[in-house]
Amino acid sequence: MTKQTDTKLLLDAKILSFVFAHIETAVILASLDRKIVSVNDAARHLFGYSEEELLNKSTRVLYAHEHDFSNLGKRFNDTADYIDDTSTVTCKNKSGYLFKAQVTGGPIKNAAGKNLFYVAMIQDDSSRLNAEDTLNKLHSITSNQRLSFKQRLDAILHLGSEHFGLPIGIFSKITGDQYVIQQAIHPDDSLEEQMSFNLGETYCSHVYQANEVKGFHNASNSEIESHPCYQSFKLEAYIGAPIFVDGLRYGTLNFSSNNPTKPFIRQDFELIRLFAEWVGHEIARKNDIKALKKAHDQLEILANTDALTGLVNRGFLEQELQDSIDKNVQYRREMVVALFDFDNFKTINDKFGHSVGDEALRVFARVVNEFGRSEDVYGRWGGEEFMAILPTKNIQGISVSLTRLQKQIREAGLKIAEQELILTVSVGVTMLRDDDDIHSILKRVDTLLYKAKDNGRDRIEIG
Ligand code: GH3
Ligand code: MG
Ligand code: MG
Repeated sequence: MTKQTDTKLLLDAKILSFVFAHIETAVILASLDRKIVSVNDAARHLFGYSEEELLNKSTRVLYAHEHDFSNLGKRFNDTADYIDDTSTVTCKNKSGYLFKAQVTGGPIKNAAGKNLFYVAMIQDDSSRLNAEDTLNKLHSITSNQRLSFKQRLDAILHLGSEHFGLPIGIFSKITGDQYVIQQAIHPDDSLEEQMSFNLGETYCSHVYQANEVKGFHNASNSEIESHPCYQSFKLEAYIGAPIFVDGLRYGTLNFSSNNPTKPFIRQDFELIRLFAEWVGHEIARKNDIKALKKAHDQLEILANTDALTGLVNRGFLEQELQDSIDKNVQYRREMVVALFDFDNFKTINDKFGHSVGDEALRVFARVVNEFGRSEDVYGRWGGEEFMAILPTKNIQGISVSLTRLQKQIREAGLKIAEQELILTVSVGVTMLRDDDDIHSILKRVDTLLYKAKDNGRDRIEIG
């Protein structure tokens, strides 16, 4: 190479380095034997070297692995053309930290087509890859059906904490001025559920004010240095997002640390927004399930209730009988069944009308509601017949209390136009036997009831 072309080349290199000086991508200019000729600010920052440390060094120092260096040589050789795609390689910075990077570039040629330099543009890919990794983990947490809501949130808090490098993670509910911790992770376990703070003194007040994701990577050197949140908690780094449930603001998801961190990038804001969005969906789903369960419970109550008396209906009684019989096989459960039938009910209807008959049925319900023990089940068997399922083996004791019940029904009676209507019932009572099924016990108690009718009504027959 002549002295003149040498000087010309150096001049070209200088001009090129001016061009690259302030662009955000790391740019490295190398000679044809792959010695570094020029680096821009971004490259120095990315690799942690000063310019002097890099000049004249082989570009090999920038790669973690020999094979990446030689493979990329194909891009940077005599016959190579500028290729318009990227190669992903593992780079190494001055302190030995390895990171994935995307490299583009190739030879810079003169007018005659002769290679002058190689140029490489290097983009740190680790934050993109980290975000991708975090998103994959988020997906596997949110799609794991075996985890409860609480377990999922715990996993989310840990994932966010790991991703942002901030050890404190909080899921909060905000009502008016009150900030209440719903779930949290903390290195010293010093945050507990239901701990409550004044919203105005929290970092999340900034999220609520902006109604948007907020981040402070070094609070003591920021505009919130004099804000009560910094004065109270002295957290240096914070990132938080509002949580919306069915379009309404619910609270926040936030991560923080006592130590400052590197500045947050747009991707961090997008990621925490996504985390918070997922939490919002999950709360909505939980609420839906709760509402659905409530509706289901109400429906079940309705399905088991007799509309006229409010007592349980025949379907429920049959189920209860069957359950008791099934349990009896296993645990020899004791049970007494009583069947009631109003005496001369047709006469009541005929004399006073159907609605008075209905009222008489309600009298029965009112009396048993006041009278019955909580473990006893009284229900309407059908028409003017009622049933009691009583978990006891003391049939004599039951007989005494059923006699009292008869008395109370008689005393309750009904007043119709100054006329006192006395209500009486006949009762059949029997105990569950070992060889009973639902049919045999029902048949027995029915027979006993008829016996009570035959023997003059307003009486109890036990068998
Ligand atoms: P017994 O003493 O032999 O039982 O005579 P009874 O008149 O009560 O005879 P039975 O039990 O056979 O008659 C039941 C009557 O109850 C027939 C029916 O019209 C009436 N009934 C059934 N369900 C209702 C109801 O929901 N409301 C009213 N008001 N009457 C009903
Ligand atoms: Mg009847
Ligand atoms: Mg009757």
